[in-house]
Amino acid sequence: MWRRPSCKNFLSPVSQPALVVAQAYVNYDLFRQGEVVKKGKIFVISAASGSGKTTLVRGLLKECKNLVVSKSYTTRALRANEKNRRDYIFVSGKVFAAARKKKAFLEWAKVFGNYYGTPADFVEKKLKIGKSVVLVIDVQGAAKVKKAAPGAVLIFIMPPSLRELENRLRKRKSDRSAQIKLRLKTARAEIAQAKRYDYIVINDNLSRAQRQLKEIVDSECGTEG
Ligand code: 5GP
Repeated sequence: MWRRPSCKNFLSPVSQPALVVAQAYVNYDLFRQGEVVKKGKIFVISAASGSGKTTLVRGLLKECKNLVVSKSYTTRALRANEKNRRDYIFVSGKVFAAARKKKAFLEWAKVFGNYYGTPADFVEKKLKIGKSVVLVIDVQGAAKVKKAAPGAVLIFIMPPSLRELENRLRKRKSDRSAQIKLRLKTARAEIAQAKRYDYIVINDNLSRAQRQLKEIVDSECGTEG
C-alpha cells in the first residue's frame, strides 16, 4: 500500500452549490446538546475495469458497518448479470440530463460513451447521520470530488499488471473485443492518474488488498469498522 506523503485533510471554499453540501459534512466533529457527533467521511475508490474493485468494495462494506456505498445513476445499458437499483440506477439520457440540470449530482462524468453520476442527496443524508460514504467512481469524478471536498480520501486500486487486467476482462465475458480494447486504453490513462490519489492499493493478492483497504478506512476514521 502506498500513501501520498502530502495528504492533507482540510476544507477550502468551493463555488458549486451541489458540492457545498458534501463539503460541509466532510471531516467535521459537531457538538450537539453537549455531545460530540462524529461526521462521516467520503472515500472515493477508483480502479480500471477488471481490477477487482467490486469484490474489494463488497468485502469492505461487510467489515465496516459504518460505511455505505453510493449507487450511481447511469445511462449505460444493463448487463446480463446486473439488476436495476442493486448495481446502478439505470436511466435514460433524458432523465440523466434533467437530473444534471437540477444539480442533483455531486459529480458526473462521461465514461466509455455513457453518463454516470453520484446522487448528491444520498451522500448528504448519510454524512449527516454520521455514516461514511464510498463512491466507486472514475478518475474524472474523483478529481471533482477532491476539489470540492479536500477531506475526501482517494484510494486507487491498481491491477498487478496490464496483461493480468486484460486476462480478467476477457474471462469476465461481459464486453465485446472492441470494448475490451477501449477499457485497456482507458486503464493506461487511469493508472497514470493514480499519483493524484491519497492511497494506492495493489490488488495482486485479494486478502492482502482487502486488509489494506480496511486499514485505510480505520485509520482515516480513527475507529475500528
Ligand atoms: P462500469 O460501466 O464498468 O460499471 O463502470 C465504468 C466506469 O464508470 C468505472 O470506472 C466506474 O468506477 C465509473 N463510474 C461508476 N459510477 C460513476 C459515477 O457516478 N461517477 C463517475 N465519475 N464514474 C462512475
